[in-house]
Amino acid sequence: MNRKVIIIGSGPAGLTAAIYTARANLNPLVFEGPQPGGQLTITTDVENFPGFPEGITGPELMDSLRSQAQRFGAETVFKQITKVDFSAKPFKVWVGDELFTSEAVIISTGASARWLGLESEQSLMGYGVSACATCDGFFYRDKKVLVVGGGDSAMEEANFLTKFASEVWVVHRRDELRASKIMQERALNNPKIHVHWNSTISEILGDKDSGVTGVVLEDTVTGEKREDSCDGVFLAIGHIPNTAVFKGQIDLDEKGYILTRDGKTATSVPGVFACGDVQDKDYRQAITAAGTGCMSAIDAERYLE
Ligand code: NAP
Repeated sequence: MNRKVIIIGSGPAGLTAAIYTARANLNPLVFEGPQPGGQLTITTDVENFPGFPEGITGPELMDSLRSQAQRFGAETVFKQITKVDFSAKPFKVWVGDELFTSEAVIISTGASARWLGLESEQSLMGYGVSACATCDGFFYRDKKVLVVGGGDSAMEEANFLTKFASEVWVVHRRDELRASKIMQERALNNPKIHVHWNSTISEILGDKDSGVTGVVLEDTVTGEKREDSCDGVFLAIGHIPNTAVFKGQIDLDEKGYILTRDGKTATSVPGVFACGDVQDKDYRQAITAAGTGCMSAIDAERYLE
């Protein structure tokens, strides 16, 4: 069956697009992808999404968004798109050999935080390991935290965390930062921020009961290892937009983010729209993703008219 709208991705952007397109009688089909519910499913409490004065857990919020979309007729499937062809209408998307076609496509595949790739990092994610200071910083009042990375994001996260934490240590693998001068100065002049130069984390210590209790740092010059105690580890080593499958089909910027027209969700292909983190490297919040998800649904609806 040729669909009116296919939505690829199921974070706040995709599911908001699903709510709006379903309510516009467009019977959207949502491919939930490899991480159904998106990045919020790996955070614990979400306290900054408007409308939840007591907070809500990430998985609960995403389950609610999914139920809300389904209530209006959105169909959601736990499948991952493996290939697309946007060169002619109807647009074609595949899950393996299975072909689906649609008059409009909304892409909301998000971005994935880059991780160090440690086993302990995976097991303590949400228990002291985070890739979002804006989401989780609040839980570290008067605590000591580490921020990994030397770019603008790491400086921004470190500065933000000083609002809560008593001490913030940046862990950077070289002896100079990549961040812009102004961001560096702001961070280095903050009395709460210190730097472990030439260092990487080779293990994160703690368990799910105690949370993070420390790390093993490795000197990138001498190879020497040492332990450092802390209560949280924030990763800020970059994000990777999930656009591999769209390469060559729509215009991406040099970092792989989908290019959308100023203030709109239209991409370089009329009828293909993009929303959420896959086209946003600045804000990256659930609420902004949901906002652009709503915009993409309205843009798609107008396009189909
Ligand atoms: P980034 O500029 O790519 O910096 C990533 C940092 O993480 C680098 O310092 C890098 O080290 C380090 N890193 C990468 N992989 C690592 C690994 N496996 N282990 C240890 N360290 C690792 O990323 P970003 O800071 O997220 O910034 C992305 C873009 O957004 C940039 O263009 C940035 O200017 C922009 N941005 C701007 C603002 C702002 O202006 N307010 C705020 C945030 C981001 P090396 O330096 O050794 O490569």
